[in-house]
Amino acid sequence: MDAETVIKCDVIILGAGAAGLFCGIEAGKRGRKVILLEHNSRPGKKILISGGGRCNFTNLGASPAHYLSDNPSFCISALKRYPPQTFIKQMEKWGIPYHEKKLGQLFCDRSSDDLLECLLHEVRQYGVEILTEVHPTRVVKEDNLYITKTDKGLFHSSSLVLATGGLSLPKSGASDLGYKIAAELGHTLIPPRPALVPLLWGAEDSARFDGMAGVSLEVKAQVGKTIFRENLLFTHKGLSGPAILQISSYWKEGEPLWINFCPEYPMGDWLIEQKQRKPSLELKTLLNQHLPERLARRWCEVYHSSKPLGDCKDKQLRSLGETLNRWKFIPAGTEGFVRAEVTRGGLNTREFSSKTMESQCSRGVYAIGEILDVTGWLGGYNFQWAWSSGWAAGNAL
Ligand SMILES: Cc1cc2nc3c(=O)[nH]c(=O)nc-3n(C[C@H](O)[C@H](O)[C@H](O)COP(=O)(O)OP(=O)(O)OC[C@H]3O[C@@H](n4cnc5c(N)ncnc54)[C@H](O)[C@@H]3O)c2cc1C
Repeated sequence: MDAETVIKCDVIILGAGAAGLFCGIEAGKRGRKVILLEHNSRPGKKILISGGGRCNFTNLGASPAHYLSDNPSFCISALKRYPPQTFIKQMEKWGIPYHEKKLGQLFCDRSSDDLLECLLHEVRQYGVEILTEVHPTRVVKEDNLYITKTDKGLFHSSSLVLATGGLSLPKSGASDLGYKIAAELGHTLIPPRPALVPLLWGAEDSARFDGMAGVSLEVKAQVGKTIFRENLLFTHKGLSGPAILQISSYWKEGEPLWINFCPEYPMGDWLIEQKQRKPSLELKTLLNQHLPERLARRWCEVYHSSKPLGDCKDKQLRSLGETLNRWKFIPAGTEGFVRAEVTRGGLNTREFSSKTMESQCSRGVYAIGEILDVTGWLGGYNFQWAWSSGWAAGNAL
């Protein structure tokens, strides 16, 4: 095949990731001649690396409340029509063993490969073609036909599905091609930004917490009214761990985050009470009851010198307690798309049907998965969106 070869089919899907594959299978089941165009050398790269190689493929409790969007009601219809329980039944039909890790998060027992293999088996079963190492450049509309121009030929189709994902993890094949094609077809973009992403220290915190990398503890992380109670991890560059990844999706540049390092206790009251009970106890030893030892020591060095509790003033203990229960963190930024698990923002969902994912600007064009402005929490929600939106489009094509 060369750039001038003409190939005709009913549906062209750009991107053979989770959403594209699932959509292709559904459309294939309904007798459509479908071709997926993928620029990587193999499909489903993110499925393979996801969930530490075991793909957290859905969440038992996935509901619209777990998704961020400029248009929060957009995801309701697809999630309702294709909920986690339907995908779980599919996993059982495929015979893929899975388990719940925590908080409703379902992972493959063995490896993500099990899931990708089953998807690819269905792709073949329904006569769907995947062409890899194809590089689409643009799409033009002629009459009722979409012509996708690539280095391997011109693909003529009556329907076109944009499933190229977001911008996160460029090394897995992320690109902005889908956004560009959608813009040429009249769509607008909610500015994409990294989400589920580690946050960076500012200069002051970087000096304060130098050497703390690897320390981990359960915290409450808060932005505005949104709070996540999960683990936090100190890194060489800043903070990460599930609590930080989750809250990063809600964080805007320049805003403070609030971290409660001791969510069970009002620490000011507790420290004063402990002073009365054990006046000779060293402050850092006491803090070690709630904080990992390295952090307890450092907290004393930064906010209060460590001395016997009896030598500490109540006012100082109260203020130290406040730093622990409501620590203000203004990140200098995020680790960016290279480390982000997902992209917040994307194609403006107000311009698509929430039932079929079809464009309201250009009939016959659909967008599914992460390319849309629908961003799930950490914990299987993003794959569930890929399945639900892919299924909705696949049944409308
Ligand atoms: C490290 C990591 C771990 C993750 N773990 C989980 C998890 O366990 N659970 C969960 O729910 N979510 C997880 N996610 C998020 C999840 O992987 C995505 O939300 C999901 O894959 C989105 O599916 P998609 O099909 O919309 O996009 P993608 O999976 O990104 O697929 C898009 C496809 O389009 C192709 N493409 C892009 N540009 C072009 C182009 N120009 N030409 C041709 N093809 C192109 C890409 O190569 C890719 O194959 C993880 C993400 C990362 C980065």
